[in-house]
Amino acid sequence: MESVTDITRLVRDIAQEMAAAEDRGAVATYIPPLAMIDPSRFGLCIVTADGAIHAAGDAEQAFSIQSVSKVFALTQALGKVGDTLWRRVGREPSGTPFNSIVQLEREQGIPRNPFINAGALVVADINLAGHEPRVAIGELLRFVRYLADDDMITIDEAVARAEQATGFRNVALANYMKAFGNIQHAPELTLGVYFHQCAIAMTCRQLAMAGRYLMHGGLYQPGGARVVSAQRARRINALMLTCGHYDASGDFAFRVGLPGKSGVGGGILAIAPGKASIAVWSPGLNANGNSKLGTLALERVAEATGWSVFSAM
Ligand code: GLN
Repeated sequence: MESVTDITRLVRDIAQEMAAAEDRGAVATYIPPLAMIDPSRFGLCIVTADGAIHAAGDAEQAFSIQSVSKVFALTQALGKVGDTLWRRVGREPSGTPFNSIVQLEREQGIPRNPFINAGALVVADINLAGHEPRVAIGELLRFVRYLADDDMITIDEAVARAEQATGFRNVALANYMKAFGNIQHAPELTLGVYFHQCAIAMTCRQLAMAGRYLMHGGLYQPGGARVVSAQRARRINALMLTCGHYDASGDFAFRVGLPGKSGVGGGILAIAPGKASIAVWSPGLNANGNSKLGTLALERVAEATGWSVFSAM
C-alpha cells in the first residue's frame, strides 16, 4: 500500500464511505459561526513523502482550523524562546477536556501541555512578546502560508469576533493564569491573538501541505529549507501523539497510532513521520470535541497503510 495509485484509491474510497455515513457527530455550537457549518461535509488530503498530493471529497473547502493552529503557534513560540518555553508550559497529557481549568490551581498556573486551551494561551502570550497583537498574528499567518506554500490562507474575522464575544471560559483561563504571573500581557491582548489564530481558515490540502515539516524531520521538503531541528520536529510529534486530542489522546493513539492535532472545527492534522502529512475535515464532533468521522477516516488510513508509529513496518 505505498504506490501512488493505491493511496489515490484509498483516499477516494474513504471519502465515499464517509459521505454515506449516518452517524456524523454534532457540530460545535458554542462558537456561533461553527454551528452553521453543513455537517455533511467531508474532506481528506494526504501528502506523501515524495510530495504527491492525494485529495478527495471537500478537500478544497476552507474550514476553521481552531485548535490545529496550536501546532503552528507552538512551533513559532519555540522558535522565539526555545526550550525556556517549558518553564511556563508542561508536557504531560491532561486527561481533561480542552477547556478545563481544574488542574491550574494545583499546578500554580502552569498548564499541563501546549495543546489544551490554557497551554495555548501561554503560547500565544509568548508569541505576543515584543509585538502589537496584529503583528503577532500576522507573523503566525505568514508562517502558516509559508509552510503551506499558499498565500491565499486567511483569518475568518467573523469567527474571531464570535470567539471574542463568547469565549468566557478562555477569558477565565487567561485571567486565572495572569493571577499566577503566567500571562505577561493584558489578558485581552493575549486572548485576541489566540482567538485570531483559532480563526485561521484552511482547506485539507493547505493543512496537509503545512504539516510537511513534521513528516520530514523539520525540513520544508526533502532537500529543502529547515523549518525546525529534527529534534524539535520529533518532540512536536510526540506532544501531538500524547496531548493532541485532549482526554481522548489515548483513544486516538489506540485507534490511529499517529501524532495528531484536532480542532473543534472538525479538522485533524495527522503526521506519519517519514511517510505522510494527512489532513481530514468533518465538522461533526464526538463527545471529546474531536471530529468523529475524521478520526474514523484516519483509522482507515492507518489500517490500510500500516503507517501507525506502533507498527513494525
Ligand atoms: N477556539 C476554540 C476554543 O478556544 C478552540 C478549541 C478547540 O479547537 N478544541 O474553545
